[in-house]
Amino acid sequence: MAEVRLDEVSKVYADGTRAVDGLSLDIADGELLVLVGPSGCGKTTALRMVAGLEDISEGVLSIGGRVVNRVPARDRDIAMVFQSYALYPHLDVYDNIAFGLKLRKVPRAEIERRVAATGAALGLKDHLRRRPRALSGGQRQRVAMGRAIVREPQAFLMDEPLSNLDAKLRVQMRAEIARITRQLGVTTIYVTHDQTEAMTLGDRVAVMKKGVLQQVASPQELYDQPVNVFVAGFIGSPAMNLVTGVFTTSAEQVVLRIGDQCLRVDPALLQARPGVRAYFDRPVAVGIRPEDMQDMSLVPRDSAMLYATVDLVEALGSDLLVHLRIAADGVVTDDTRELARDAGLDPAAPAGSGVPLTEFVARFSPRSRIRKDELVEVAVDTARLHVFDLDTGRSIL
Ligand code: ATP
Repeated sequence: MAEVRLDEVSKVYADGTRAVDGLSLDIADGELLVLVGPSGCGKTTALRMVAGLEDISEGVLSIGGRVVNRVPARDRDIAMVFQSYALYPHLDVYDNIAFGLKLRKVPRAEIERRVAATGAALGLKDHLRRRPRALSGGQRQRVAMGRAIVREPQAFLMDEPLSNLDAKLRVQMRAEIARITRQLGVTTIYVTHDQTEAMTLGDRVAVMKKGVLQQVASPQELYDQPVNVFVAGFIGSPAMNLVTGVFTTSAEQVVLRIGDQCLRVDPALLQARPGVRAYFDRPVAVGIRPEDMQDMSLVPRDSAMLYATVDLVEALGSDLLVHLRIAADGVVTDDTRELARDAGLDPAAPAGSGVPLTEFVARFSPRSRIRKDELVEVAVDTARLHVFDLDTGRSIL
């Protein structure tokens, strides 16, 4: 196995599209790195450059310390698992897994040893003589992985390998991929547009937008400390609520004004984000995670609070997803314009004009008794607020 290093790597397609722009990433030996971002952000292009299926326009790619920009795909010693399993229907599991080794004229005894070991690692030992048709979706997926693993490559590349599976199997296979790659200690780059998949799988997650790397960090760090509005909105489900607000001081107390409402701010927020003081009395983008809002009747009375109208209550069993409306202006930066567009709102409205980004989603305890159309008191954990510069979208720390 080996480390994979991208140094300022870019891809400009013949038509001038800059699909990947100055991407620098170090994937350590044995690490599972997930590349995530919305459709068209350049993740597949990045992976294809590592695989050698796409020329690198600028920058340096090295694998195991060797620069491979000009090394053809077949000589890079990398295995790729795609969306479609691409199994040979007329071959059984054993022969599907052995196929690449036979092509390479690996000695028969060696093939037998490696296929047996791979079959055992993937829980396919009892299915080696079955054809793909007689396997479940998850088993076929494992065979596809087996074909890659058996080659004992330097690195493993996976492009949305689970997108053909139903929801339940995806969750199972996700856990399986995490287990197998860790067990084998294979350096892996895994591409997905699904942030949940990214968060559950990756040692580290790299978030991309329009060809540009936004942040690379552990799943928990991305969730707790997103560097900008884009990452904040992309990581977490339901997405972080974003709204314009103004921090100000009133009678020795820091308060946050959102629309015509005022929240008392926990001093812990300013300890964690001293930079916010420099933004007092001017608008900032404020992010509130659905998890950091709760039915006021279920928390201590002295919590900070917003008034809101309940638009919709979705009971998930474990939680209630409560769609709320509050009287407030929407945040409008380039990033939030995009979020607004994704949400089907009018992104053309100018800043500060009260774009109706005033819908909040909160994750309430199922013990809450609130109902649709009620005016409710919503407790907000202000120590956990996120604060962003309205112009640049960057997190203020
Ligand atoms: P998805 O999740 O939809 O597969 P992605 O993040 O993997 O998207 P890419 O497929 O890498 O994105 O595409 C990145 C950008 O490059 C897109 O704007 C796409 O339209 C463009 N692109 C991809 N292939 C080509 C090509 N051969 N010529 C020109 N532009 C291309």
